[in-house]
Amino acid sequence: KLQPILPQANPPAWLGVMGGGQLGRMFAQAAQAMGYQVAVLEPSEDCPAGQVAQRLVNAGYSDNAGLDALAAQCAAVTTEFENVPADSLSRLAQSVFVAPNAHGVSVAQDRVAEKRFFVSCADKSGVLPAPHKVIASQEDIDAISDDLLPGILKTVRMGYDGKGQVRVKSRADVQAAFESMDKVTCLLEKMLPLAYEVSVLTARGHDGESVVYPIAENVHRDGILFTTTVPGPNVSEESALKAQKAAQAIVAELGYVGVLCIEFFVLTDGSLVVNEMAPRPHNSGHYTIDACVTSQFAQQVRAMAQLPLGDVRQHSAAVMLNILGDVWFTDDSEVGDSAREPAWNEILALPGANLHLYGKDDPRRARKMGHLTFIAPTLAQAQQQLNAACAVLG
Ligand code: ADP
Ligand code: MG
Repeated sequence: KLQPILPQANPPAWLGVMGGGQLGRMFAQAAQAMGYQVAVLEPSEDCPAGQVAQRLVNAGYSDNAGLDALAAQCAAVTTEFENVPADSLSRLAQSVFVAPNAHGVSVAQDRVAEKRFFVSCADKSGVLPAPHKVIASQEDIDAISDDLLPGILKTVRMGYDGKGQVRVKSRADVQAAFESMDKVTCLLEKMLPLAYEVSVLTARGHDGESVVYPIAENVHRDGILFTTTVPGPNVSEESALKAQKAAQAIVAELGYVGVLCIEFFVLTDGSLVVNEMAPRPHNSGHYTIDACVTSQFAQQVRAMAQLPLGDVRQHSAAVMLNILGDVWFTDDSEVGDSAREPAWNEILALPGANLHLYGKDDPRRARKMGHLTFIAPTLAQAQQQLNAACAVLG
């Protein structure tokens, strides 16, 4: 179903965002820099985006009164997390321009729908997902073919940062893992031999024009993004072009409006496999704030306001490091006994350092508290500063 194309939203119009996390915060900051006013809908009272937005609508993501208040105030609404109820986006879309729309978000928030969609457009994108099978019953487990093992069992919904995933070697492992996840519908994916992981950030406007950022190379630790390096040291020009072309084909097929990030695997034989997509700005795109002409958040503002998309050119080599709550604790301190404050003075003394903290006041292990982006004329220089920062953070 097509949404009516409402007139573009010029500043100082209100822009709405579903969700109050760090992505909403950085979105709000970019929108405000352009002169917009920002309203955030989020159930918790103290949240990273709520701290900076001009208005916090304190309501659940499915609360009709809250949704109607957001729609009444705003010229356009977006989302900062993919698990926003698709029905809420549909309700908003009855009275306000919503980008991305319920369709794109509902495909991205369900691993089965997402895989099915990737397969359906493989002829246009030129990439396939990992071999996989839906696991919803004992019969499904009995029918697993040997070539899907070893594999990874992933919950179909609500998975992020490696949560809701179990590595499995046998049918018995799948059975135990399925039971440990209370038999919610899962997807079994064949474990692939990864050489490295990349992501492609793309944005598509209401007029169907799309742009694609340089390909980013990502390193994860314990399922959480650790660093993003752009340009990726391992990425060949051929796989970069292939991934960028695939990403643009995928957003076009989806009829998507807004910023979307697609994760790919590059296998040891050099082939490219599409993993998953996030219907929003992405952690691996944070480097764009400091290293590109238009940040991913400013790009989201342009797309939802139906204004021309911005220049994606990267002007500096960049390495982004996530700052997790762990750095607030010494090795032997327990979660909750705040032992130390990171030495920001030493970090900020490093050339090319850009510090972004999200306003979260209780550091916990594995919690994303902020990120650091080092920019430099060459990648080697940026990497050197990153190594120095890692030494300071411990
Ligand atoms: P999440 O939603 O938690 O990000 P992903 O599907 O991206 O879930 O999986 C998290 C990480 O697990 C990936 O970045 C990759 O390192 C690893 N992984 C996931 N699927 C596979 C696979 N089929 N083969 C090998 N590694 C995988
Ligand atoms: Mg992922």
